[in-house]
Amino acid sequence: MTSDYNQNLWNSVLAELEKRIPKNLFELWFKETQVVSYSPEAIKIKVANDIIEKKVSDKYLEEIGESIFKCCGDSPKIEFVFDPPGDEQDTFNFEESIFQDWQDSKPPIATATAIVKSEPRSFPKQMPFNETYRFENFVVGPSNQLAHASALAVANKPGKAYNPLFLHGGVGLGKTHLLQAICHAILQRDSSYILVYLSCEEFINEFISSVERGDVEGFRHRFRYVDMLLIDDVHFLGSKERTQEEFFHTFNTLYNAQKQIILSCDSAPSEIPSLKERLVSRFKWGLVTKLDIPTFETRVAIIKKKSRLKGVEFSDEVCQYIAENLVSNVRELEGAINHLVAVSDLHDREISLDLAKRNLREVIQLYEPEVQVSDILNIVAEHFKVKLSELQSKKRSQSVVRPRQVSMYLAKKLTKHSLQEIGGFFGGKDHTTVIHAIEKIKDARTQKKDFHELLVELEHKILGDKKA
Ligand code: ADP
Ligand code: MG
Repeated sequence: MTSDYNQNLWNSVLAELEKRIPKNLFELWFKETQVVSYSPEAIKIKVANDIIEKKVSDKYLEEIGESIFKCCGDSPKIEFVFDPPGDEQDTFNFEESIFQDWQDSKPPIATATAIVKSEPRSFPKQMPFNETYRFENFVVGPSNQLAHASALAVANKPGKAYNPLFLHGGVGLGKTHLLQAICHAILQRDSSYILVYLSCEEFINEFISSVERGDVEGFRHRFRYVDMLLIDDVHFLGSKERTQEEFFHTFNTLYNAQKQIILSCDSAPSEIPSLKERLVSRFKWGLVTKLDIPTFETRVAIIKKKSRLKGVEFSDEVCQYIAENLVSNVRELEGAINHLVAVSDLHDREISLDLAKRNLREVIQLYEPEVQVSDILNIVAEHFKVKLSELQSKKRSQSVVRPRQVSMYLAKKLTKHSLQEIGGFFGGKDHTTVIHAIEKIKDARTQKKDFHELLVELEHKILGDKKA
């Protein structure tokens, strides 16, 4: 069939589609489409880029199929093609209406419309999801109730419940799990939803490589077209000044367009070293919630859930034994569960308490025992030949200030104490003093190799002494 014939046919399909889809959305997604080939078996439709391809194929496939059937009585397989990014034929022009689609037909916000003038090229790189990090696999207890409830609220009403949502807590307490649970829940409900889930490191890498390519504009646009942005481990933004600057603009744009922003971090916003105040304050605009170490009962429930997910049922006493011995971090629990599941598979037998004890003795010892601030003080005092009481005093002579800063730095690194608590060990200093000390040491560590080596040695000594 001639291309004119195909185009006429496609125009009548479009006319049919126009009746079924709100005008602004039709204009946005279908105005620039063309038919490439047509037969009763297959139709190939050209769209401007991958974003449109995703949106149209996820959301409008049925309407397109019905319209084709209405116009010519065929039910061909529908395929989309688009020119790869960077191709000059890409003529799609994003207009203000894109925001109407995003906002369920609310009037566009002035600040947001200003930035979308050229076409998006492609999505930012997406991190893979863990299939099991879903809400139904997350065990709720007093330590994470609020974080869980707020994540659910945001998954149900993106951009409306809390924006941004800032989840913080120590390693292995479920931040990544909750972020991905939000992604799963939303995509399950609406697969055309454009969300971007990235580790902060990926965000930084993408930004740096866009600077190297001289394509910061491209980077900006990619992030500004999304419905939801989730960044895991934002503490890595600390001391990355240019990326912070860029993130600040991305944040503002999405926020103004009422797009949901979700962040996770190992500490509260004000405790992220070297984070600019304007970002700190923005991180607190929505809801800041903390995940704590799960209680014994929650740990038992997590062990049950995780082992069940792996197809093994542990007895109550085995679950309790693990929960009693691995306290501070759910990832450690998982390590123990995996170990026992492997043992049970290998020997094709149920795990008795005795077998669990024998097998976990090794695993449990692998984990660092908890370091106390007093362990750090003793070793630092001994190394620098200062008195313990001096480290904890207000004395400001150089011979004491540096060892004190080293102790604070190591306390933050090796213990689970908050900055405030650490300040408490040093004669009631407030958390800003502790942040200052940590930054000083971080700086010195990157500048002087000797000093870096000294810190490594002290760290080994502290951890080594604990294990002995
Ligand atoms: P974080 O990002 O805070 O370091 P993760 O989300 O990676 O921690 O969690 C570490 C592991 O512990 C993951 O396998 C996660 O599924 C599991 N986990 C943490 N909290 C829970 C919970 N409340 N219920 C079930 N699994 C959990
Ligand atoms: Mg994580």
